Amino acid sequence: MHRRPHKISLLLLNDPAGSDRKHYVWIKSLMRFIASKYTHAHDRHVCMSCLQSFMSTGVLRDHKCYCHMHEPQQWMYLTRVESKLAFTRHQYQFLYDFYLVANFECFLVPSDDGTTAHIPSSYCVYLVTPHERYRMPPHAYVDTMMATS
Ligand SMILES: [Zn+2]
Repeated sequence: MHRRPHKISLLLLNDPAGSDRKHYVWIKSLMRFIASKYTHAHDRHVCMSCLQSFMSTGVLRDHKCYCHMHEPQQWMYLTRVESKLAFTRHQYQFLYDFYLVANFECFLVPSDDGTTAHIPSSYCVYLVTPHERYRMPPHAYVDTMMATS
């Protein structure tokens, strides 16, 4: 398959209505079809066996040595319903029920020895939780002495 001088790429489409009819579509540019998600600025080089794309022909050449040891692969796309992922259990969505978000701000004060000291000036703490009874507004603190100096 890979040694033939002329290669064309075809995409086999199923009938969206669910009949047994199938239709081939000619892919004029396999690189655009496969690798358009990466960039429009640089060409990508596609392996005809596994349909992975690579930044350079050298990387593709190195890849082919390993990829062509295997039979060509067939890619199957999921149906619209199968392609949606969703968590069914809350405990698998977020590992912890309580999540503390904190942000600290500092002033950078040059020292005599040439280094820069980080002097804390403010912080904000916010507790994120799905449990309504533990929710509270974000707590912010500003050192007014540092803020005005
Ligand atoms: Zn490959």
